[in-house]
Amino acid sequence: MPETVAPPASSASIEQLKILRAGRWEASNATRFGDVYNPSTGQVIAKVPFCSTAEVNSVIEAAAAAGAEWANKPVVQRCHVLFKFRELLVQHAEEIARTVTREHGKTLVEARASVQRGIEVVEFACGVPSLIMGQSIQNIAREVDCETIRHPVGVCAGIVPFNFPAMVPLWMYPIAIACGNTFVLKPSEKVPLSSMMIGKLLVEAGLPAGVFNIVHGDKECVDALLHHPLVKAISFVGSTSVAKYVYETGTKNGKRVQAAGGAKNHLIIMPDADLDQAVSALQTSAFGCAGERCMAGSIAVGVGDVASRLVDNLVDKAGKMKVGRTDEGADVDMGPVISREHMNRVASYIDIAAKEGASVALDGRKATPPGNGFILGPSIFDQVQPDMRVAKEEIFGPVLSVIRAKTLDEALAIGRKSEYGNGASIFTRDGYAARQFKHHFNAGMIGINIGVPAPMAWFPFTGWNKSFFGDLHIQGTESIQFYTQQKMTMTRWFESAADSHHDPVWKQK
Ligand code: NAD
Repeated sequence: MPETVAPPASSASIEQLKILRAGRWEASNATRFGDVYNPSTGQVIAKVPFCSTAEVNSVIEAAAAAGAEWANKPVVQRCHVLFKFRELLVQHAEEIARTVTREHGKTLVEARASVQRGIEVVEFACGVPSLIMGQSIQNIAREVDCETIRHPVGVCAGIVPFNFPAMVPLWMYPIAIACGNTFVLKPSEKVPLSSMMIGKLLVEAGLPAGVFNIVHGDKECVDALLHHPLVKAISFVGSTSVAKYVYETGTKNGKRVQAAGGAKNHLIIMPDADLDQAVSALQTSAFGCAGERCMAGSIAVGVGDVASRLVDNLVDKAGKMKVGRTDEGADVDMGPVISREHMNRVASYIDIAAKEGASVALDGRKATPPGNGFILGPSIFDQVQPDMRVAKEEIFGPVLSVIRAKTLDEALAIGRKSEYGNGASIFTRDGYAARQFKHHFNAGMIGINIGVPAPMAWFPFTGWNKSFFGDLHIQGTESIQFYTQQKMTMTRWFESAADSHHDPVWKQK
């Protein structure tokens, strides 16, 4: 019998989501609501409130009120809550993964992996006593000692995209909270269910009321977070246009902001590459999570005479992928995209590619199964030129464009023209080519014979160009810097035994 992620929702059972304010789950007083879908079926499974500015402000104030006590709690005690949280996440990992699949549509295998990546961020955050240690020098000047310590910044906010409902929020708040801050999360209005489930575990782990809060909504909610003076730091992940807006508005209002944006990631295949390995990696990179990954490979650059073999192999493999609904535990390789509107937008690029003169080697529309799910098969375009829209614009769906280049230098030049700069990979057996690529490709995260070079929790997510706005990236030690402010103290003590209340015993011999 197939596994069932959740029973089908009848309209009577549609849940209306609550907000989390000061440790209480409360009905929102919103007057506007959005629909949350199961993209495998097209059914509405929940209603999400779009919080008003006044409601968001009240949540920010609750987070600020909890700040002093949490910041003063010894760091080791803060960690105890995170250890418990990690234990609960591990216990409930399967349930969370099923919720991710139900609201987002990625396969259960992909959902489980994404939950595991999120748990690793909590594990990283549990090491915060070592990570927030300051520095000191004794006698930096005569009898003067100097030290730095790290303070929390105050209320931090997280605004997140739809494509990783559990993992991307987990990039942010475990670290912010471990550093002694309080947090307001605004999940994506398209996939808020996983964050609600994880929020309940954080409360169960013993986090004091008000340290972690959840609001829901759209632009109005985001704007309230960007304008409230008590919000000191904003972590954002989403599309480039919104990332730029959040960065500009947040910094104008005196906040520190880290804003990760969209991407167009290049995968370079050299003539000497192990083609089977490369094609497998490309297939996962381009079509894994239905291409809805900021690290998805969306352009394959075939260098030299490898291109025709590459396209034939890719079309053969991708054409055999099982595409279908993911919510029933069926054995499928690729599930739906997030919405009907997005499915139609992604499909429109197939006509755009053909009109621009590319050849449509695989048309994903032909693999669409029956039903109302937002499901589209994988598409591959060949003979793509670097200035075509399909080569420049982020499509964020199961679409791979193949560009043919004569040399590695030509491939590097194509990368230099990209306005994005998240990830890029090379497939080769030649160490020198790999080294040239690593040093000269215009992107912040590099893979060598790796399809998706997304860093794990201990390293920062180092997007470049229009894939990131800010200074300190998300994850890793850069995030500790982002969520703390340093205080430097210089100390000098004078020898004044005469008026000291203490008996200077140590001086008597
Ligand atoms: P999005 O930009 O539409 O939404 C992201 C968040 O911003 C959501 O919470 C949404 O409610 C809010 N938002 C949307 N429009 C807004 C507006 N006009 N003003 C204020 N807030 C607004 O992104 P999405 O479609 O949810 O996610 C997909 C995008 O995220 C892709 O571009 C993808 O590349 C990117 N992404 C980037 C990374 C990274 O690390 N660089 C990781 C994951 C996803």
